[in-house]
Amino acid sequence: MSHVNKSAHPFDKGRLEALLSRRFFYAPAFEIYGGVAGLYDYGPSGSTLQANIIAEWRKHFIVEESMLELDTTIMTPAPVFETSGHVARFADWMVKDVKTGDVIRADHLVKNVLEARLAGDKEARGQAAAPAKEDEKDKKKKKSKTAKAAAVQLADDVAKSYEVTLAQLDNFSGAELGELCRKFNIRNPDTDNEVTEPQEFNLMFASSIGPTGQHPGYLRPETAQGHFLNFSRLLDYNNGRVPFASAQIGRSFRNEISPRAGLLRVREFTMAEIEHFVDPQNKSHPRFKEMRDVVLVLLDRHVQSSGNTTLIKMSIGEAVEKGIIANETLAYFMARIYLFLLKIGINPDRLRFRQHMSNEMAHYATDCWDAEIQNSTGWTECVGCADRAAYDLTVHSARTGHPLVVREALKEPIVTEKEVPEFNKKALGKTFKQDAGVLQKHVESLDEAALSKLKSELAEGSTTIIIDGKTFEIAPDLLRVERKTFKQSIREYTPNVIEPSFGLGRILYTLLEHTYWSREQDVERGVLSLPPVVAPTKVLIVPLSAKEEFDPLVQEVSSKLRRAGIFSRVDDSNTSIGKRYARNDELGTPYGVTIDFASVQNRTMTIRERDTMDQRIGSIDEVIAIVTDLVEGNIDWTEACQRLPAYDGVQAIES
Ligand code: AMP
Repeated sequence: MSHVNKSAHPFDKGRLEALLSRRFFYAPAFEIYGGVAGLYDYGPSGSTLQANIIAEWRKHFIVEESMLELDTTIMTPAPVFETSGHVARFADWMVKDVKTGDVIRADHLVKNVLEARLAGDKEARGQAAAPAKEDEKDKKKKKSKTAKAAAVQLADDVAKSYEVTLAQLDNFSGAELGELCRKFNIRNPDTDNEVTEPQEFNLMFASSIGPTGQHPGYLRPETAQGHFLNFSRLLDYNNGRVPFASAQIGRSFRNEISPRAGLLRVREFTMAEIEHFVDPQNKSHPRFKEMRDVVLVLLDRHVQSSGNTTLIKMSIGEAVEKGIIANETLAYFMARIYLFLLKIGINPDRLRFRQHMSNEMAHYATDCWDAEIQNSTGWTECVGCADRAAYDLTVHSARTGHPLVVREALKEPIVTEKEVPEFNKKALGKTFKQDAGVLQKHVESLDEAALSKLKSELAEGSTTIIIDGKTFEIAPDLLRVERKTFKQSIREYTPNVIEPSFGLGRILYTLLEHTYWSREQDVERGVLSLPPVVAPTKVLIVPLSAKEEFDPLVQEVSSKLRRAGIFSRVDDSNTSIGKRYARNDELGTPYGVTIDFASVQNRTMTIRERDTMDQRIGSIDEVIAIVTDLVEGNIDWTEACQRLPAYDGVQAIES
């Protein structure tokens, strides 16, 4: 699919949102009860679009890479998230309007206000260059808007400091965000009131399990913990070998502070997460060479820290060589994420990978790159790709005592020699009574150098050990230190985890923005140029009219498409064919086939392509075969046109 903006009209978010609501892609949940911010229901088109994205995701990742699929529970007992660190640290900073008590996420407030001031500055400079005539009505309109739209020119150094702050925004702590509010006089734009100091707000929804409520729990904010807790079983399933990856698609919940951005920031959403378990000493990827030349647009942490947002274009091979991306496995997944997003229709010119700055990184991560997709609200993180190191498996293992490790048989056993203390326990007990145990523990904790020293002192007659100010005189009949040989044939280690984490709602919404346009002659006529692979309906079957004589052919075409696995719909409503096609352009239906009198007489059918509105004609079976090839991605429309002659546009006349 071409990503050249076909639309003669500038992107109109209002019109897209009206379309998505009218054609029930999604709508506020509990709408007739007034709705709840951040909760949405998907309708038929949205659900099928999401299901198709998921189906493609499963093929692209789970099937292509033989991942182990999981479906773990959402309700999670509190100790799991206490251990994982979410109870203490899965939080955002919020401020309150000092008068109204309205709650705002602190980093979002700083971002929105500074961006608005910079936009106002640009506007003011533009006006200064060529003063635009502004009538009284326009002036009033501007004034009535919040401070957001004020066109005020900023001093050059002020504008620069805003830009630097914005480039580093994700790196600030709560206290720093508070300082920024004071330094830049940032107030609640809705009321112009001051705001409080930032306070931490945990994003997890708390609950309790069981009738007495004595088992606190949480709705999971990510699916990842379910993978980690099942690690031993997964490893076993994979015959004890790493690397391997588990994958899970499921719901997660975050009690976002002030969700206002439609599907981009919600409180309940579907995630698709991969946990790739890898040897910490070898983070190469067996299929890296297949991806080495994939070129990505990168925004690394050093560029951001210097207050810049300059992007670099680089192959992942080069980025790993230069140490910009930490390791092959992380880079491999970044490339695979990129290819997936392109496949479902995301515009590559509006896609970049941004590295997290050190403060911004989640508590468990050592390196992290977000796939950010540009949309009408700016750049939005849609996929996180983090190296979680050994953090999660280590903490869960320490808390539960259950080993979450890989035991690898070594090809060559490792032979080592060590000094080992050997006690004459009976004599030791007799001599030192209740202190014998303490003494033994102390000696056992000594390192190689200390044990060697002890050994030579014992060889000379005796040694003295002081523990907590108490002196013990030890003779060789109580303790001997011997040099022993050890053979290690198993290596035991905690694997590291590389985690690509997809938010499907964000991807779905940005995809809708990227594929929406309207025809030059008709701004009302929205089109969603969804690639066939994700389009909710692949083929629209349009009988010329609802006349009974078309029924057998409609049924034949439907059933043949069904058998070919192609999802189609019949539209036999009373409106004109043009209107029926236009309605389906809004749903992103890529192809339409028309059954008319010629079809009945000659068994021919026309096929129309959504984006070009080009029409071709062929025998019913030929058109079905071609549409099947088109939907399965075996051919594109240009190739289809080589196989089918153009339709001259003369509609069969009703006889
Ligand atoms: P994170 O674990 O914060 O890196 O989030 C992983 C992915 O989940 C992000 O890349 C988003 O696509 C998605 N996500 C996170 N929070 C939200 C939210 N409140 N609403 C929608 N999607 C979200």
